[in-house]
Amino acid sequence: MGLRLNCVRSPSTPATTLSLFPMDTAAFDRERHVAFLEMMLERLPEDYESQEINRLTLAYFAISGLAVLDALDQVNREQLISWVLSFQEEPGNEADSKNAEFYGFGGSMSSKLLKNDRKVLYYNCSHLASTYCALAILKLIGYSLSSINFEPILTSMRGLQQPDGSFIPIHIGAEADLRFVYCAAAICFMLNNWTGMDKARAKEYIMKCQSYDGGFGLVPGAESHGGATYCAVAALHLMGFLRSDCLYESSQPCIIDIPLLLHWSLQRQSFNGGFQGRANKASDTCYAFWVGGVLKIIGGYQLLNREALRSFLLSCQSKYGGFKKFPENIYPDLYHSLYGFLALSLLEEPGLKPLLVELGIPVFSEAGI
Ligand SMILES: [Zn+2]
Repeated sequence: MGLRLNCVRSPSTPATTLSLFPMDTAAFDRERHVAFLEMMLERLPEDYESQEINRLTLAYFAISGLAVLDALDQVNREQLISWVLSFQEEPGNEADSKNAEFYGFGGSMSSKLLKNDRKVLYYNCSHLASTYCALAILKLIGYSLSSINFEPILTSMRGLQQPDGSFIPIHIGAEADLRFVYCAAAICFMLNNWTGMDKARAKEYIMKCQSYDGGFGLVPGAESHGGATYCAVAALHLMGFLRSDCLYESSQPCIIDIPLLLHWSLQRQSFNGGFQGRANKASDTCYAFWVGGVLKIIGGYQLLNREALRSFLLSCQSKYGGFKKFPENIYPDLYHSLYGFLALSLLEEPGLKPLLVELGIPVFSEAGI
């Protein structure tokens, strides 16, 4: 029994039918990928059951994937909006709003405990990553974020910021690192309101995470990593501390070491054309976006071997639709599928929508906030 996302109608074109046809691995098979994502929105394979707590994030992977494939027309917009909004946690009264809890979006209904009479116990599991995913989905389908009660999100988010500028993702305590600084910056950017964080302190924290080799670790002193480097560069860009194409900006000193960052990022392209997340690791589909996105933001994307990257990515397409982490894998997964699509969009693959690279989503229709 697989996991149901319950946010769209049944797909009209089953991917299982398409997977019966051989796939040309030298071409991007858009139709197969659309069918795969629609099937995933209807029911996920049982391997995903352990990720039930991240239901909203899984939906984000599928919805954002359909958006970059320009195939959101199969999604029931109204049903999706009310499903996403059902995850929002709001303070019940004035006292709640001062209880130091974070009021954003929870990842799943199972994070709430149910009483025997089926009434929901108040158990707030709002998480920065789920909140980012919820707002991104709403943005992608053109829902105006001014329609939601966003003040409690921003006010309570400040309580998650630590004295060193980092963020914990949830008020009951958790690790603090660059991922959640990025989520906080993306949330403020999407809501067009920066009262949710102290930007100056966040900037100081990010700068401390740049390693001696030019990449960024998740925390100060940690090994450079592709995902952490994207979070750092994209967050600085969203906060207005790093201009696009800063590689060519000589009039103003940059707050981070750009030449070293460029060198580290280009070194991540491996002999097989793909990108690795860290030195001496295998190429993996997702880093074509995480590291490629960094190169795009700073203005160094044209320096990578695009042809080799494209052929690596196409070799990671699955015959079931979607992308695999490594070419030798058999099955695709939702996470690597989305970042495979985003990486090919950076390469300007025909049929894919352009990206707002720093938000990690396709350019959305401007509904305002
Ligand atoms: Zn990966």
